[in-house]
Amino acid sequence: MMFAMSRRPCIAANWKMNKSISEADDFLDEFLPTQSAEGPEVVICPTYLALARVAERCAGTPVRSAAQNMYFEDSGAFTGEVSAPMLLELGVDGVILGHSERRQYFGETDPALARKVRRALSAGLMPILCVGESLEQRECGDTESVLSGQVLADLAEVHTDDLDRVVIAYEPIWAIGTGVTATTDQAQEAIHFIRNLLRSRDPEMAERVRILYGGSVKPDNAAELMSQPDIDGALVGGAALDPAGFGAIVDASRGSGS
Ligand code: PEP
Repeated sequence: MMFAMSRRPCIAANWKMNKSISEADDFLDEFLPTQSAEGPEVVICPTYLALARVAERCAGTPVRSAAQNMYFEDSGAFTGEVSAPMLLELGVDGVILGHSERRQYFGETDPALARKVRRALSAGLMPILCVGESLEQRECGDTESVLSGQVLADLAEVHTDDLDRVVIAYEPIWAIGTGVTATTDQAQEAIHFIRNLLRSRDPEMAERVRILYGGSVKPDNAAELMSQPDIDGALVGGAALDPAGFGAIVDASRGSGS
Protein backbone atom coordinates (compact mmCIF):
# COMPACT_ATOMS: atom_id res chain seq x y z
CA MET A 1 0.00 0.00 0.00
CA MET A 2 1.38 3.42 -0.93
CA PHE A 3 0.88 6.55 1.12
CA ALA A 4 1.16 9.96 -0.51
CA MET A 5 3.23 11.96 1.91
CA SER A 6 5.08 15.21 1.78
CA ARG A 7 8.13 15.51 4.02
CA ARG A 8 9.56 18.92 4.82
CA PRO A 9 13.28 18.89 4.03
CA CYS A 10 15.64 19.45 6.93
CA ILE A 11 19.13 20.92 6.60
CA ALA A 12 21.24 20.69 9.74
CA ALA A 13 24.63 22.27 10.39
CA ASN A 14 26.90 20.16 12.58
CA TRP A 15 29.60 22.57 13.72
CA LYS A 16 31.38 19.82 15.67
CA MET A 17 34.10 21.34 17.93
CA ASN A 18 34.25 24.57 15.95
CA LYS A 19 33.19 28.18 16.56
CA SER A 20 33.47 30.13 19.78
CA ILE A 21 30.50 32.21 20.92
CA SER A 22 31.79 35.27 19.07
CA GLU A 23 32.36 33.24 15.92
CA ALA A 24 28.84 31.84 16.22
CA ASP A 25 27.60 35.43 16.49
CA ASP A 26 29.48 36.38 13.33
CA PHE A 27 27.91 33.44 11.49
CA LEU A 28 24.40 34.30 12.69
CA ASP A 29 24.83 38.00 11.85
CA GLU A 30 25.29 37.00 8.23
CA PHE A 31 23.08 33.90 8.06
CA LEU A 32 19.89 34.72 9.98
CA PRO A 33 18.76 37.68 7.81
CA THR A 34 18.87 35.41 4.74
CA GLN A 35 16.43 32.85 6.17
CA SER A 36 12.67 32.80 5.70
CA ALA A 37 9.93 30.60 7.12
CA GLU A 38 9.26 28.92 3.78
CA GLY A 39 11.34 26.03 2.60
CA PRO A 40 13.36 23.56 4.60
CA GLU A 41 13.66 23.33 8.34
CA VAL A 42 17.12 24.69 9.14
CA VAL A 43 18.89 23.57 12.31
CA ILE A 44 22.22 24.74 13.74
CA CYS A 45 24.12 22.43 16.09
CA PRO A 46 26.94 24.33 17.85
CA THR A 47 29.12 23.25 20.75
CA TYR A 48 27.52 23.21 24.19
CA LEU A 49 29.30 26.45 25.03
CA ALA A 50 27.78 28.36 22.11
CA LEU A 51 24.40 26.64 22.38
CA ALA A 52 22.73 29.12 24.72
CA ARG A 53 23.70 32.02 22.46
CA VAL A 54 22.62 30.26 19.28
CA ALA A 55 19.29 29.14 20.82
CA GLU A 56 18.62 32.64 22.11
CA ARG A 57 19.42 34.29 18.80
CA CYS A 58 17.41 31.76 16.77
CA ALA A 59 14.31 32.17 18.97
CA GLY A 60 11.69 34.03 16.98
CA THR A 61 13.44 33.26 13.69
CA PRO A 62 12.73 30.32 11.36
CA VAL A 63 16.09 28.74 12.29
CA ARG A 64 16.23 26.10 15.00
CA SER A 65 19.04 24.94 17.28
CA ALA A 66 20.18 21.52 18.43
CA ALA A 67 22.89 20.02 20.62
CA GLN A 68 25.46 17.54 19.36
CA ASN A 69 24.86 14.99 22.14
CA MET A 70 23.14 14.53 25.49
CA TYR A 71 22.88 11.94 28.26
CA PHE A 72 19.73 9.96 29.00
CA GLU A 73 19.64 10.66 32.75
CA ASP A 74 18.27 14.03 33.89
CA SER A 75 20.88 14.84 36.56
CA GLY A 76 23.41 13.19 38.84
CA ALA A 77 27.02 12.08 39.03
CA PHE A 78 27.76 11.99 35.30
CA THR A 79 30.75 14.30 34.92
CA GLY A 80 30.95 16.09 31.60
CA GLU A 81 27.42 15.26 30.49
CA VAL A 82 24.33 17.41 29.89
CA SER A 83 20.69 16.33 30.03
CA ALA A 84 17.48 16.86 28.11
CA PRO A 85 15.94 19.23 30.72
CA MET A 86 19.10 21.35 30.59
CA LEU A 87 18.80 21.64 26.81
CA LEU A 88 15.11 22.50 27.10
CA GLU A 89 15.93 25.27 29.55
CA LEU A 90 18.06 26.89 26.84
CA GLY A 91 15.22 26.71 24.32
CA VAL A 92 17.03 24.13 22.23
CA ASP A 93 14.86 22.25 19.70
CA GLY A 94 16.77 19.03 19.07
CA VAL A 95 19.87 16.94 19.55
CA ILE A 96 22.20 14.98 17.29
CA LEU A 97 22.58 11.46 18.65
CA GLY A 98 25.00 8.73 17.60
CA HIS A 99 27.24 10.77 15.33
CA SER A 100 29.96 8.45 14.05
CA GLU A 101 32.63 10.56 15.75
CA ARG A 102 30.93 9.90 19.07
CA ARG A 103 30.62 6.21 18.26
CA GLN A 104 34.28 6.00 17.11
CA TYR A 105 36.11 8.21 19.62
CA PHE A 106 33.84 8.35 22.66
CA GLY A 107 32.46 4.84 22.95
CA GLU A 108 28.83 5.65 22.09
CA THR A 109 26.84 2.41 22.04
CA ASP A 110 23.51 1.38 20.56
CA PRO A 111 21.95 0.48 23.94
CA ALA A 112 22.83 3.95 25.27
CA LEU A 113 21.50 5.52 22.09
CA ALA A 114 18.18 3.72 22.44
CA ARG A 115 17.78 5.38 25.84
CA LYS A 116 18.97 8.76 24.56
CA VAL A 117 16.52 8.73 21.65
CA ARG A 118 13.68 7.80 23.99
CA ARG A 119 14.62 10.54 26.47
CA ALA A 120 14.96 13.17 23.76
CA LEU A 121 11.48 12.33 22.49
CA SER A 122 9.89 12.31 25.92
CA ALA A 123 11.42 15.76 26.51
CA GLY A 124 9.99 17.07 23.24
CA LEU A 125 13.41 17.38 21.59
CA MET A 126 13.88 16.31 17.97
CA PRO A 127 16.53 13.58 17.84
CA ILE A 128 18.74 13.58 14.74
CA LEU A 129 19.94 9.99 14.87
CA CYS A 130 23.09 9.29 12.84
CA VAL A 131 23.81 5.88 11.36
CA GLY A 132 26.35 4.72 8.79
CA GLU A 133 28.90 2.14 7.80
CA SER A 134 32.69 2.33 7.63
CA LEU A 135 34.59 1.85 4.37
CA GLU A 136 35.69 -1.61 5.48
CA GLN A 137 32.11 -2.61 6.26
CA ARG A 138 30.96 -1.34 2.86
CA GLU A 139 33.74 -3.19 1.06
CA CYS A 140 32.84 -6.40 2.89
CA GLY A 141 29.22 -6.05 1.76
CA ASP A 142 28.04 -5.38 5.31
CA THR A 143 26.40 -1.98 4.72
CA GLU A 144 22.84 -3.23 5.08
CA SER A 145 23.50 -5.35 8.16
CA VAL A 146 25.29 -2.44 9.87
CA LEU A 147 22.46 -0.04 9.04
CA SER A 148 19.73 -2.41 10.14
CA GLY A 149 21.61 -3.19 13.37
CA GLN A 150 21.96 0.50 14.22
CA VAL A 151 18.49 1.63 13.14
CA LEU A 152 16.61 -1.20 14.82
CA ALA A 153 18.64 -1.02 18.05
CA ASP A 154 18.62 2.77 18.35
CA LEU A 155 14.87 3.04 17.70
CA ALA A 156 14.00 0.00 19.80
CA GLU A 157 12.52 2.06 22.61
CA VAL A 158 10.59 4.47 20.39
CA HIS A 159 6.84 3.96 20.32
CA THR A 160 5.62 3.59 16.76
CA ASP A 161 3.40 6.68 17.14
CA ASP A 162 6.53 8.75 17.81
CA LEU A 163 8.65 7.46 14.93
CA ASP A 164 7.95 10.46 12.73
CA ARG A 165 9.42 12.78 15.37
CA VAL A 166 12.83 11.20 14.78
CA VAL A 167 15.06 12.49 12.00
CA ILE A 168 17.57 9.92 10.77
CA ALA A 169 20.85 10.96 9.13
CA TYR A 170 22.56 8.37 6.95
CA GLU A 171 26.24 9.26 7.16
CA PRO A 172 28.67 6.79 5.63
CA ILE A 173 31.79 7.17 7.76
CA TRP A 174 34.05 7.10 4.70
CA ALA A 175 32.33 10.24 3.37
CA ILE A 176 32.50 12.36 6.53
CA GLY A 177 35.06 15.13 6.37
CA THR A 178 36.94 13.32 3.59
CA GLY A 179 35.72 15.28 0.58
CA VAL A 180 34.45 11.95 -0.80
CA THR A 181 30.70 12.18 -1.20
CA ALA A 182 28.61 9.03 -1.63
CA THR A 183 27.28 8.93 -5.16
CA THR A 184 23.67 9.96 -5.48
CA ASP A 185 22.77 6.33 -6.17
CA GLN A 186 24.67 5.05 -3.12
CA ALA A 187 22.99 7.60 -0.87
CA GLN A 188 19.50 6.97 -2.29
CA GLU A 189 19.99 3.20 -2.09
CA ALA A 190 21.06 3.24 1.57
CA ILE A 191 18.34 5.68 2.57
CA HIS A 192 15.72 3.68 0.70
CA PHE A 193 16.94 0.62 2.61
CA ILE A 194 16.53 2.49 5.91
CA ARG A 195 13.01 3.56 4.94
CA ASN A 196 12.16 -0.05 4.15
CA LEU A 197 13.36 -1.03 7.63
CA LEU A 198 10.94 1.51 9.06
CA ARG A 199 8.17 0.11 6.83
CA SER A 200 8.56 -3.19 8.62
CA ARG A 201 7.54 -1.34 11.81
CA ASP A 202 4.81 0.81 10.33
CA PRO A 203 4.33 1.51 6.61
CA GLU A 204 2.55 4.82 7.11
CA MET A 205 5.06 6.17 9.64
CA ALA A 206 7.92 5.14 7.34
CA GLU A 207 6.63 7.62 4.76
CA ARG A 208 6.67 10.41 7.30
CA VAL A 209 10.16 9.96 8.76
CA ARG A 210 12.72 12.36 7.38
CA ILE A 211 15.98 10.71 6.41
CA LEU A 212 18.93 12.98 5.63
CA TYR A 213 22.21 12.32 3.90
CA GLY A 214 25.48 13.46 5.45
CA GLY A 215 29.05 13.21 4.21
CA SER A 216 30.91 15.97 2.36
CA VAL A 217 27.73 17.74 1.25
CA LYS A 218 28.69 20.96 -0.53
CA PRO A 219 26.76 23.69 -2.35
CA ASP A 220 27.57 22.04 -5.68
CA ASN A 221 26.38 18.50 -4.86
CA ALA A 222 23.47 19.28 -2.54
CA ALA A 223 20.73 19.76 -5.13
CA GLU A 224 21.41 16.47 -6.88
CA LEU A 225 21.52 14.52 -3.62
CA MET A 226 18.30 16.07 -2.40
CA SER A 227 16.49 15.46 -5.68
CA GLN A 228 16.40 11.75 -4.80
CA PRO A 229 13.01 10.43 -3.74
CA ASP A 230 14.05 9.18 -0.30
CA ILE A 231 16.58 11.90 0.64
CA ASP A 232 14.91 14.56 2.75
CA GLY A 233 17.78 16.91 3.41
CA ALA A 234 21.34 16.98 4.68
CA LEU A 235 23.47 16.96 7.80
CA VAL A 236 26.38 19.18 6.89
CA GLY A 237 29.73 19.43 8.66
CA GLY A 238 32.60 21.36 7.08
CA ALA A 239 30.50 23.25 4.54
CA ALA A 240 28.18 24.50 7.30
CA LEU A 241 30.89 26.62 8.91
CA ASP A 242 30.56 29.28 6.25
CA PRO A 243 27.26 31.19 6.26
CA ALA A 244 27.20 31.77 2.50
CA GLY A 245 28.08 28.15 1.71
CA PHE A 246 25.55 26.79 4.19
CA GLY A 247 22.95 29.21 2.83
CA ALA A 248 23.60 27.88 -0.67
CA ILE A 249 22.97 24.32 0.58
CA VAL A 250 19.72 25.45 2.20
CA ASP A 251 18.72 27.10 -1.09
CA ALA A 252 19.58 23.92 -3.00
CA SER A 253 17.00 22.02 -0.97
CA ARG A 254 14.13 24.33 -1.84
CA GLY A 255 11.56 22.49 -3.86
CA SER A 256 13.02 19.08 -2.97
CA GLY A 257 10.14 18.11 -0.63
CA SER A 258 9.37 14.51 -1.59
C1 PEP B 1 29.10 15.48 9.74
O1 PEP B 1 29.91 15.78 10.57
O2 PEP B 1 27.98 15.08 10.11
C2 PEP B 1 29.45 15.60 8.31
C3 PEP B 1 28.64 15.12 7.43
O3 PEP B 1 30.64 16.24 8.03
P1 PEP B 1 31.16 16.73 6.57
O4 PEP B 1 30.00 17.42 5.90
O5 PEP B 1 32.30 17.63 6.85
O6 PEP B 1 31.55 15.49 5.82
